[in-house]
Amino acid sequence: MKHRPRPPLPAPFPSATVYVTTSRPRADWCPACKAYTAFVGDVLLLAEDGVSVVGTYTGCEICDDPDEGAPRA
Ligand SMILES: [Zn+2]
Repeated sequence: MKHRPRPPLPAPFPSATVYVTTSRPRADWCPACKAYTAFVGDVLLLAEDGVSVVGTYTGCEICDDPDEGAPRA
């Protein structure tokens, strides 16, 4: 008799407990820098019943760098 694979999160969670995490960002085109210095990634919601993508996050390693010029408004 084979063991069933355990779920990745065996501990019982309260139903309201979820975790938000982000995927590894992908390089993306930044129109301000005119280069592939931007990044985009998925915002993932980890809940009892699985993982769902709830949004995306974007940024630019040049535009978002506080050491490079004035911060964005
Ligand atoms: Zn940029």
